[in-house]
Amino acid sequence: MQLKIYNSLSGEKEVFTPIHDKNVGMYVCGPTVYSNVHLGNVRTFLSFDFIYRSLMHLGYKVRYVRNITDAGHLTDDGDVNNDRFVKQTRLEKLEPMEIVQKYTVDFHKVLEMFNLLPPNIEPTATGHIVEQIELTEKLIEKGFAYESNGSVYFDVLEYNKRGLNYGELSKRNIEELFANTRDLDGQGEKKNPQDFALWKKASPAHIMRWNSPWGEGFPGWHLECTAMSTKYLGDKFDIHGGGMDLKFPHHECEIAQGKACNEVEPVNYWMHANMLTMNAQRMSKSTGNYILPMQLVSGENDFFEKPFHPSIVRFSFLQAHYRSVLDISNDAMLASEKGFNRLMDAVKILQNIQSDDQKKSVFSLEDWKNKAYAALTDDFNSPVLIAHLFEAVKYIFALNDGKETISTADLEDLKSTLNALVFDVLGLQNVEESNNDKLDQTLKVLIELRNQARKSKNFELSDQIRDKLLAEGIELKDSRDGTTYVLN
Ligand code: AMP
Ligand code: ZN
Repeated sequence: MQLKIYNSLSGEKEVFTPIHDKNVGMYVCGPTVYSNVHLGNVRTFLSFDFIYRSLMHLGYKVRYVRNITDAGHLTDDGDVNNDRFVKQTRLEKLEPMEIVQKYTVDFHKVLEMFNLLPPNIEPTATGHIVEQIELTEKLIEKGFAYESNGSVYFDVLEYNKRGLNYGELSKRNIEELFANTRDLDGQGEKKNPQDFALWKKASPAHIMRWNSPWGEGFPGWHLECTAMSTKYLGDKFDIHGGGMDLKFPHHECEIAQGKACNEVEPVNYWMHANMLTMNAQRMSKSTGNYILPMQLVSGENDFFEKPFHPSIVRFSFLQAHYRSVLDISNDAMLASEKGFNRLMDAVKILQNIQSDDQKKSVFSLEDWKNKAYAALTDDFNSPVLIAHLFEAVKYIFALNDGKETISTADLEDLKSTLNALVFDVLGLQNVEESNNDKLDQTLKVLIELRNQARKSKNFELSDQIRDKLLAEGIELKDSRDGTTYVLN
């Protein structure tokens, strides 16, 4: 079956042909580690984890590079007050590298919780300053960049004059871009408002700074990804991914830098993952419309009526295609939990099913497998794949009820295919007693018993219940609306 990938550059689904046989180079823009990742960020990284797992399952050998942005990343090309790291350093009274370390550790912990595989290389922007200076020098040499007051900018008009088409990814027209640009701070240094920074001069207040041929400064955000992707994957590689919001200007600028430097389209397939919304609004730190991953998993939040296991969150994310917007809500999570538990129950039941080589089954395993793999290879269509998994689930329950039969060979095939798709490809984990529900019910019984003890003034018993649960990492919280629990 041929793998097809939707390419944001062409706007079409294309047959996937890697540059080097079955070897695939994939680069995904990583986090800016200046604060905790929110659940929206997790969705994008999870989408690419599913794509990475799918590629490997389909027999590709993948070199997966995902960077850490630990320098620069200005909210625009303006002054130091827009540097996310500098802002956070002031707020938390920490060294910039303490901020970087703190939130890199948090990022890794969160992704591990959702069972994301680590990339093969995880390079940092600060570890590639030399490469970024070299690229800047090359761009100046080739006439695509100019120095201005200690900063270096990419000359977008010059790039276009040479017929290189700035705007090809985001489908923006450069004339329109020029017409619509506000006059931003610091723009006086630029020839044109669309020019973007390759290197920025550090003001005296800027703590993260490096020596360069243009004086002390720091690299522009777009440059780091060009430096690190081409260093580890070559001037031209197969897949570049990131969230939809990075298409412009970040990825547009990466294309411009790559083409100007190396005279090739840097990437064959551009993939963009869609946003997670909550209350129908994009999840984002700046608007306050966000939830941290731990808050959803622990239950400590105002949006969801109960905690959800990370694997259930993972399942709920994969029930939407990576290119569709996904709105997270209490009802959707409850529905996902039900589906997840049914799927896991089926996987478990299948272990004890007996085969029968005499009777013929109505269910065609071959057809089912074809449909499942058709979904997987159709631009990684996880919701359709999951829908097909539930056909198998129905069949397994019918087998369990004695209403269907399966041959010995098919039973082995079904077991291995289902396990591979559920655990290797979707990356789900068997929540022991995914039956999270069972724990929930048990705790409700204990809370009820404690309430009865309190009513009859048996405080010794009620305290004992609370303390023993706490010793097991389960904290009871009393409020006017009753008692809830938090798993620590
Ligand atoms: P940042 O750390 O801001 O560079 O973001 C890290 C990744 O998260 C980027 O690929 C963003 O596109 C992605 N992202 C940010 N907000 C959301 C959201 N609400 N839903 C999905 N992905 C997001
Ligand atoms: Zn990037």
